[in-house]
Amino acid sequence: ANVEALKVDDTRRATSKNLDVLKEFEKVAKKNEANFVVIGHVDAGKSTLMGRLLYDLKVVDQRTIDRYRRDAEKMGKSSFALAWVLDQGTEERSRGVTIDIAVNKFSTDKTNFTILDAPGHQDFIPNMIAGASQADFAVLVIDASTGAFESGLRGQTKEHALLVRSMGVSRIIIAVNKLETVSWSQERFDEISQQVSAFLSSAGFQPKNIAFIPCSGLHGDNIVRRSTEPALTSWYSGSTLVEELDKSEPVTRALDKPLRITIGDIFRGGVQNPLSVSGRIESGSLQVGDALLTQPATQKCFIKALEVDSEPADWAVAGQNVTLHLSDIDPIHLKIGDLLCSPSSPIINIKEFKAKVLAFEFLTPMQIDVHRGRLHTTGKIREISSLLDKVTGATAGKKRPRIVKPGQLARVIVELETAAPLEPPGRVVLRSNGATVAAGLLE
Ligand code: GDP
Repeated sequence: ANVEALKVDDTRRATSKNLDVLKEFEKVAKKNEANFVVIGHVDAGKSTLMGRLLYDLKVVDQRTIDRYRRDAEKMGKSSFALAWVLDQGTEERSRGVTIDIAVNKFSTDKTNFTILDAPGHQDFIPNMIAGASQADFAVLVIDASTGAFESGLRGQTKEHALLVRSMGVSRIIIAVNKLETVSWSQERFDEISQQVSAFLSSAGFQPKNIAFIPCSGLHGDNIVRRSTEPALTSWYSGSTLVEELDKSEPVTRALDKPLRITIGDIFRGGVQNPLSVSGRIESGSLQVGDALLTQPATQKCFIKALEVDSEPADWAVAGQNVTLHLSDIDPIHLKIGDLLCSPSSPIINIKEFKAKVLAFEFLTPMQIDVHRGRLHTTGKIREISSLLDKVTGATAGKKRPRIVKPGQLARVIVELETAAPLEPPGRVVLRSNGATVAAGLLE
């Protein structure tokens, strides 16, 4: 099908209420919205810390926690109870690790937050990438206990921090966790803060966008409740984690940009409608009756009904998670990772793109898998155009180097096997043989 031809056809059904969606949104928008990703080495205490946050904010009740505690004790892992707040699947529980992004929401007086939980296990990097591609900021959890910080730095701590930075995340909050295991030592906290700051600056984070919080997720010190431990309060009177989270700048929602949704899930044979999709609206807005264009299949369909956060709704805007009940389309044209846009300002399928990427492994002209959120496709690095300065982003060194070394920033041209809907400022990840080799931004 031809994109131009689909544009002129009808763009809205008669069933539409023809709302001014942006006006409707202004009437109800009260709070700032923020999404964040949680990163750090396996066992740093990410799940426990987030479970503690949700528990102390009363998002989960005492009965649920008690039930988790009983289940956990039966398995001989009582300390996992808090972590299970985030990991609802039984498979995850019996393994004791988080294996997929569990999306959880909570609110303070100022902000509605969504936690895009990122597991620490090496194999789970693709899930973390999906999280990082939607994050407004990152929370890096560091295990301060003796030896653990050092092995974490050699492990996933650095890789995760580089990954989120190269995906365009500029603000990072560091939870210096398990600090009670070193008797709330200020010396230990300072040593960790200095080393991590130095590393984060070299990765391109600006000092004003880095904050450190001494805390204990397990005991709940400085998460929501301000710690009363004299050994800590004698030298620290700064923010708790939740106070720091609340300092998030209002996210400028891309409301007036063209509509873009990546399909996260597809449901067939539902009661409401035989074909429904869900995903987060990345930019723009929509309403019941609107025409949509699916890419890469270039098919037109219509929104028969929709839900926002599982509640029926007439409209939705950027930042919201929606389920769309679609009509006029054969399910064979849709798959997870596909893009939905409006026919009047469509996203175009492209065969080649330029990107500014941070290398984790050596890059040469080579075959690669391209990930953009849940969209996966294959291609090859056709050209390494130049190396770039990590801080200024300016061209550094000679043109067209033959190789990019791990840790270097470079501009590359990627050729895709089949055309895919990609456009700036999308965040992309390049993988090869199951390992992340580079990540960055489309140009
Ligand atoms: P994740 O892999 O980063 O999600 O880590 P978990 O939340 O599963 O925690 C790993 C282990 O560290 C568990 O045994 C937790 O009980 C323990 N843990 C987490 N937070 C703390 C803390 O603040 N203090 C102490 N002493 N242990 C903690």
